[in-house]
Amino acid sequence: MKNIYLLGATGSIGKQTLDIIENQPDDFKLIGISGYSNFNKLVEITRKFLPEFVVVKDKKDSLSFKELFPNIKVEYGRDGLKSLAIYKAKDKEAFLINALVGMVGLEPTIEAIKIERDILLANKETLVVGGHLVSALKEKHDFNLYPIDSEHNALWQMMNHEENKEVKRLIITASGGSFRDLSRKELEEVTVKDALNHPNWSMGDKITIDSATMMNKGFEVIEACFLFDIDIERVETIIHKESIVHSMVEFVDGTILAHISNPDMHLPISYAMNYPSRKTTNIKPFDLMHLNDLSFATMNLDRYPCLRYAIEAYKTGGSMRTVLNAANEAAVDLFLNSKIKFLEIEDIIKEAIDSHQKIDFPSLEEIYEIDASIKNEIYNNYSKE
Ligand code: NAD
Ligand code: MG
Repeated sequence: MKNIYLLGATGSIGKQTLDIIENQPDDFKLIGISGYSNFNKLVEITRKFLPEFVVVKDKKDSLSFKELFPNIKVEYGRDGLKSLAIYKAKDKEAFLINALVGMVGLEPTIEAIKIERDILLANKETLVVGGHLVSALKEKHDFNLYPIDSEHNALWQMMNHEENKEVKRLIITASGGSFRDLSRKELEEVTVKDALNHPNWSMGDKITIDSATMMNKGFEVIEACFLFDIDIERVETIIHKESIVHSMVEFVDGTILAHISNPDMHLPISYAMNYPSRKTTNIKPFDLMHLNDLSFATMNLDRYPCLRYAIEAYKTGGSMRTVLNAANEAAVDLFLNSKIKFLEIEDIIKEAIDSHQKIDFPSLEEIYEIDASIKNEIYNNYSKE
């Protein structure tokens, strides 16, 4: 029996994690959860799973929660997320599942690493902004970091028994997101509603926009470099519209392995939760005759500048990754609130990157400071308009 501490229980990954816990009641017990803006959903999950500890958005919500559930421990905000990550620190039969969205996921990840709790990571922004901190902690602490992101989960499945030096390259596939068939000209007038209509995956709003700009793939390249300790020159991306091949690994002997399934996040979540076993899932089996329908195309960095910005930010290193992420979070938020046009997301990110003086190895506090100052500047600029 594994005890589950789930950050971001009310989100898309959170919901699919709860499905697995529900399907395997003898294997998993939900001890703690967090939610943010969706209070009612958090209440619903609490009623169903009766966790011991719940983290809500703010003090006001914590008081409302306490009235409903006087016997459940409740905390809120940034400190609440930290407490949940290390709740029952001595519990060794435990997973922290990090399904938060955004850089808020970094600090609880680091807290869990310090108590040597195994982490199942969906929150890719943790590695985008704080990959260097996580890598440094690997030297000092004994913990496992299992990727949930489908491409990385696939890579992990294929490289489980191989040495990093035997890998020639990692190939991460990209569906191309909601606008994959549009020209740059056609992107000028797209709406939020169009952008949220992803052809293959149903996900949270932020990652759906990141998929449309291809920033998501840029984040995934960075994520792969930190997870697999691999040089960025050995990580490639290709367009694969159907999202059936989730990633490929080419080894030095010429072998290429590909991971194939219908797109459904229950699979990578279940693999990570049940590792090293595999359990039956309810995902739709893939019909091999559909392999004939699959398509692959070279990635075009001129069509997707955000992917290029991410690769460059990784190469520059240090605090540039924080700037990339902070500008992206603010710009995507502005787009989702109809304050800017789709292509302005790219402009905002480029401007932030171009005007930043890099710090080599930013601490957690420096990351928070840089993040806040970049976001403030962007919000100030755009609230005036
Ligand atoms: P989501 O928006 O559906 O859910 C995000 C969760 O984080 C919610 O529970 C929300 O309440 C919480 N949250 C948001 N802002 C917060 C804040 N400031 N403080 C505390 N909690 C906050 O997102 P999602 O689609 O489930 O994605 C979660 C993470 O997983 C992201 O990093 C995403 O890139 C990654 N991911 C998602 C998918 C997917 O299919 N959804 C696939 C691969 C990777
Ligand atoms: Mg992914």
